[in-house]
Amino acid sequence: MTERKRILTGDRPTGRLHLGHYVGTLRNRARLQEEYDTVLIIADLHMLTTKPSKEDIDKIGENARGMVLDYIASGIDPNKSTIYLQSAIPEVFELNTLFGNLVSLNRLLRLPSIKDMARDANIPEDSVPFGLFGYPVLQAADILLPRAHLVPVGKDNEAHVEITREIARRFNNLYGEVFPVPDVLLGEVPTLVGTDGKGKMSKSAGNAIMLSDDEKTVAKKIRSMYTDAKRVTADVPGTVEGNPVFDYHDAFNDDRATVEDLKTRYRAGKVGDAEVKDELRQAMERFMAPIRERLRAAEEDTGKIDEIILEGTERMRELARETMREVKRATGLGGAMKRMRRAAERRAKKRSKSAGE
Ligand code: ATP
Ligand code: MG
Repeated sequence: MTERKRILTGDRPTGRLHLGHYVGTLRNRARLQEEYDTVLIIADLHMLTTKPSKEDIDKIGENARGMVLDYIASGIDPNKSTIYLQSAIPEVFELNTLFGNLVSLNRLLRLPSIKDMARDANIPEDSVPFGLFGYPVLQAADILLPRAHLVPVGKDNEAHVEITREIARRFNNLYGEVFPVPDVLLGEVPTLVGTDGKGKMSKSAGNAIMLSDDEKTVAKKIRSMYTDAKRVTADVPGTVEGNPVFDYHDAFNDDRATVEDLKTRYRAGKVGDAEVKDELRQAMERFMAPIRERLRAAEEDTGKIDEIILEGTERMRELARETMREVKRATGLGGAMKRMRRAAERRAKKRSKSAGE
């Protein structure tokens, strides 16, 4: 149907999206959707690895809608990109089971990202669910089901895409070429720090500026941002490196001359935090204005959001069925059952023939 290469990436439906998602992956998705056949996953099965409760499951629909609004706000065009709900694709469960045999448990146990996720979700080390260790395996199933070539993600996901590459190679070696070995594409800012300056910006850590935050909320979050703690007054020379306020200036302020001037004065103890933050607030307003405008427009027709997910899921099912046919042909799985069925049909025919004689 199409000669274009394919992208697969997505997010868990655990809440609205933030600036970390934007610079880590959303911006790349919007930029590449013309060039690539883009498929975006609402990864609700991945949500279950840390949030399996009924309450979390009940929120999937609302969170999925919010995510699609944030996609559109980020410049993702649902007419160009396919957006689907993971749990509605039975083939992903099938492929996940097959892939579980193509990677060693030790390989998964060594991944620091799994331990980070467990810690962030307050799961004790000795109670990490089997499914959470299988997170990268399920992700491989997501990526390879539509046979994607490119995976735009943030830094925290890089090691997982490496597992996908290993699984694709292992599968192709064992059964023959079915899957591309996909490349990872990191964002311009591979990891955006949170407003607390402590770790990456994250929904759960309460250190995020959401794409859907209004001007007042953004201003408040910027005012309470962490800076250089050693700087008790404005005349103390400050450190720019690793200072989240300056990280944000670098990531979001299009007025480079002002940023350089602020850095010089900050290092010399010649500018107060309030001014540095106010400049950031203004820059952020410029940066977020088009995002807000697209968000407002999309919010006017929320019925359309459901249609986007329904249609995208239909399209993904077709892709998934195609791939599973290839997988079964390559592995020979399902062959025994097919042969038994055929033989049973032949026997039935024979019986009815001899009964008729
Ligand atoms: P959070 O960690 O904020 O609770 P999440 O874990 O639900 O969010 P994921 O679904 O894991 O978010 O991530 C979605 C995508 O966004 C991934 O590609 C991830 O690498 C990227 N991403 C998330 N947070 C950041 C960040 N602070 N900086 C850069 N990229 C990020
Ligand atoms: Mg995450």
